[in-house]
Amino acid sequence: MLVLMNVQATPAQVANVIKHVRERGFEPIELPGADRLAIGVLGSNPGSIRDAICDLPGVVDAIPVSKPYKQVTREWHPEPTVVDVSGVNVGDGSFVVIAGPCAVESREQVLTTARDVADAGATMFRGGAFKPRSSPYSFRGLGLDGLRHLAEAREVTGLPVVTEVLTPADVELVSEFADMLQVGTRNAQNFALLEAVGGARRPVLLKRGLSNTIEEWLLAAEYVVAHGNPNVVLCERGIRTFEAATRNTLDLSAVPVVKSLSHLPVIVDPSHATGHRPLVPPMARAALAAGADGLMIEVHPDPENALSDGAQSLTPAAFAELMGSLRRLAVALDRQVATAPSPMRAATPG
Ligand code: PEP
Ligand code: MN
Repeated sequence: MLVLMNVQATPAQVANVIKHVRERGFEPIELPGADRLAIGVLGSNPGSIRDAICDLPGVVDAIPVSKPYKQVTREWHPEPTVVDVSGVNVGDGSFVVIAGPCAVESREQVLTTARDVADAGATMFRGGAFKPRSSPYSFRGLGLDGLRHLAEAREVTGLPVVTEVLTPADVELVSEFADMLQVGTRNAQNFALLEAVGGARRPVLLKRGLSNTIEEWLLAAEYVVAHGNPNVVLCERGIRTFEAATRNTLDLSAVPVVKSLSHLPVIVDPSHATGHRPLVPPMARAALAAGADGLMIEVHPDPENALSDGAQSLTPAAFAELMGSLRRLAVALDRQVATAPSPMRAATPG
């Protein structure tokens, strides 16, 4: 429920509402806004205290939030959220490009790829150190060594790093090395993990679950925010459908739908969505045109011999070409591809 205060309400009146809400067993959250003064009320069935709250001085109205997720709605927070990832702003209108290999395979592979994507103009670097694989016999990542290689790649290029965290027990470790924590599609409804990253000091990149509706995806984001971390970026990466020509079905309409429902930034991963290298550039451009806040693209120096997801990985040359076309398209759309932060700043994540 949202309690709307008179814009001239005094601080004492606001404090009084907060006190009453808390006394009745609900959680009040002050919501500063450009042109309204509101207090959010969280808990089960807040409508039960609506009449009592409406009688308090300074209160204009109390309205229910129409969705099951609350804090991630536009009703709760009308202005778009901008997530600061060690100097890269996601959601500020610019178009952020995260690029790198599916998995960290070796120090050399990571450093080479990081330099290549940085030279091509990527804004952030990606790479999996802990890999969720369908088969237990597939390459599952280098773990701690992989995290160390990623941190070195950040030092060399200045690009903030995002990497996946698979279990609550690893959240602290991954937070020591990465600028942003990725929750993958297979863990998108792992509520223990969502709560754990909700308590982390790093922003979160939340992939859409393999067969999640948009409502389920936003409820997953609500878990993270409700556990204390407001810095969530959503990532559409394709969903399971009957279509077999592509690895998944890229739901690009999710971008404007999510933007209308939520204030959180949303980016698109055309690599996992399509599964095929030639399909990545057209869908990347489509994501820019659809209004996404950015992209996540897999790039490998030798895709034919990649230990995972080679078929969908771009070569560094193809990635550089894609970046050029994105910059040209951005001009036509009155947008800008984001630039990387200065190396000094990114080298020491705050
Ligand atoms: C990834 O980005 O490395 C990954 C495993 O993606 P997803 O969780 O979307 O399959
Ligand atoms: Mn991958």
